[in-house]
Amino acid sequence: MTRTAILVLNAGSSSLKYQLLCGIERLLSGLVERIGEPGGDPDHASALSRVLAGLPPAVTVQAIGHRVVHGGEAFRAATLITPEVLQAVAALADLAPLHNPPAVQGIRAALAALPGVPNVAVFDTAFHATLPPHAYLYALPYDLYTGGGIRRYGFHGTSHAYVSRRAAELLGGAGEQADKLVTLHLGNGASAAAVLRGVSVDTSMGLTPLEGLVMGTRSGDLDPGAVLRLGELYGLEETSRLLNKESGLKGLSGVSNDLRDVRAAGTERARLTLSVMTYRLVKQIGAYAAAMNGLDALVFTGGIGENDAQLRADVLGGLTFLGFELDAAANAVRGGERLITTPGSKPALVIPTDEEGEIARQVRAVLDL
Ligand code: ADP
Repeated sequence: MTRTAILVLNAGSSSLKYQLLCGIERLLSGLVERIGEPGGDPDHASALSRVLAGLPPAVTVQAIGHRVVHGGEAFRAATLITPEVLQAVAALADLAPLHNPPAVQGIRAALAALPGVPNVAVFDTAFHATLPPHAYLYALPYDLYTGGGIRRYGFHGTSHAYVSRRAAELLGGAGEQADKLVTLHLGNGASAAAVLRGVSVDTSMGLTPLEGLVMGTRSGDLDPGAVLRLGELYGLEETSRLLNKESGLKGLSGVSNDLRDVRAAGTERARLTLSVMTYRLVKQIGAYAAAMNGLDALVFTGGIGENDAQLRADVLGGLTFLGFELDAAANAVRGGERLITTPGSKPALVIPTDEEGEIARQVRAVLDL
């Protein structure tokens, strides 16, 4: 008997991540690296054909879901790929020069390799399409928004959508309020979202994933005047490299972009780095509590949010004024969805993210499968 499955693809500039899902069952997952590099596959088409050759027998790919970073203002939800849609996604490369071109290559490869199988683009920006203008506008000349698309878009939307929905299900089931959530996706990239009754109303990443929290190698927020100064000193390209690749945990600590290494380093600079990161998180959560005029619950996810108990403890330690009280024993437990606050506290949850599962869910919704 053949089973039908959804193939989820996440194409990076030199990589292709894939997962094959049959319902909620994961049949296969993997990562092809070094695409276009010596010793690797020449292109995404070649990488994909090897992935397809390795699929289990007796499985038919029913549909393919593609992670696409930037949907601009045109794409507010997951979308079936047609030639026009593909052209529009490719045109968004202006807004996401690093991220959208590989996704387009992945889509082209899938269309060629499996003709007749529907492809769906699932956008990282889509969950944040509900941001109100007062949250997405920068105080720049308005024409830069209308003519140039310069505004906050937000990213990690698939993850924020998944964990906010799960949190509402879990809390709702327990009879708890879950109207006003802050979700924290803390991985190598990091972003916070304010989710009001299931809808994203603000998020910390902006026009690009560079804005907001302290990240592995990205600076997050800083004075635009500092960017101008760096531009004068080092030029545009080097400034971009400094802000995207040499900043954040890595730049401030001088140790690594990996939080585990920063914690293990034990130097004064490493401690300072951790305090900057925590302070910025607490400040961001406080801002979103104000933005929603209240906060019912907090959700941690991503490699750091799911695994670093100390960071969660430090963040909640700064939020007692909002009614959060850490349950240290619960916070020390590893793995799975869990509550890390005391019974009298507002709930804070750890919810492992599942971006591939969420992409597959959206593919099914678009195709009515
Ligand atoms: P990406 O954003 O690339 O998907 P992840 O969500 O996997 O990244 O998060 C990666 C980060 O998670 C690592 O850089 C590391 O700092 C952190 N991390 C992973 N495991 C642990 C752990 N056990 N303790 C603390 N931090 C961890």
